[in-house]
Amino acid sequence: MKIFIATKNKHKLKELERILTPMGFDVVSENDLKAPLDEVDETGTTYEENALLKARSGYKATGLITVADDSGLSVDILDGAPGLYSARYSGQGATYASNNDKLLAALKDVPMEKRTAKFVSSVACVFPDGREFTVRGECEGYVATEPSGEGGFGYDPIFVCESGCYAKLSPEKKDKVSHRGKALRLFKTELSKYIKE
Ligand code: IMP
Repeated sequence: MKIFIATKNKHKLKELERILTPMGFDVVSENDLKAPLDEVDETGTTYEENALLKARSGYKATGLITVADDSGLSVDILDGAPGLYSARYSGQGATYASNNDKLLAALKDVPMEKRTAKFVSSVACVFPDGREFTVRGECEGYVATEPSGEGGFGYDPIFVCESGCYAKLSPEKKDKVSHRGKALRLFKTELSKYIKE
């Protein structure tokens, strides 16, 4: 089944493709389009709303069943920050490194037991007939005191889950335990209900 992944983030796209292709989906991405995807204003107040905004925009561009992910890292002692603002935590021109630096600075004197956090991924799906659904995956862990590992992207070098630092996990291992892997497995189950109807 052909499915469009609405994202402009190449790291996310890589993970989404890596998980969805072995599930049997024929993945289409911005790379296959003639024109670039529109930037979506992430004006929602939840991950679900933002994921739906991106999926609707992707559907408008392609007419295909479209999926989009909105995700972020929620740190308990920071009242859930950076959360919805994970991509732009350190302001305009934010990079993965500047976001990680800002988060490590915000947690500078916070002891290990109070550095708990969770990654959240909401995956939205939009169908040509107007139906929509969202699913959510979460992965709990904590924020390390310094970056480590070479893999992944974003906050991976400073996020540690039960299986270890995200940036030190193999892609297969990360997909097994990650917020996005969990959300996409739920997505597959949910989708099968919609396709049958
Ligand atoms: P958005 O979903 O495009 O708004 O951005 C999500 C942001 O959260 C990314 O730019 C990353 O900074 C962060 N993020 C989401 N998923 C991951 C992940 O799997 N590893 C590390 N960072 C992530």
